[in-house]
Amino acid sequence: MAVRHGIPSRLSEAEVVELDTNPPPWLAQSRANRTGKRAVWTQLTCDVCGFTESVRPKKWWGTWTYLSCDFHRADELPLPADGMNRREVDGLGSRFIAIVDEPRA
Ligand SMILES: [Zn+2]
Repeated sequence: MAVRHGIPSRLSEAEVVELDTNPPPWLAQSRANRTGKRAVWTQLTCDVCGFTESVRPKKWWGTWTYLSCDFHRADELPLPADGMNRREVDGLGSRFIAIVDEPRA
């Protein structure tokens, strides 16, 4: 029985395990491509109650001064500093509002 290309038609179980735990570069590359870009997660933490949630960040979120659950009152957070305007961006994660303090124009 001829073995073509030097690859045995059947791999032993040990060989399969070895291939799996120690994949050659071409196999590792092919697996990386299959999963696509690695998921990037970020942690949102409420500055009032400490509730946290892991979410995939969105580009439009930008940066914020505070994070708050959407049911906290505005006065549960520190007031904006003098000369700062405050605006709110809602829709982060399942229940967060971003509080953005920006210098008054
Ligand atoms: Zn909260």
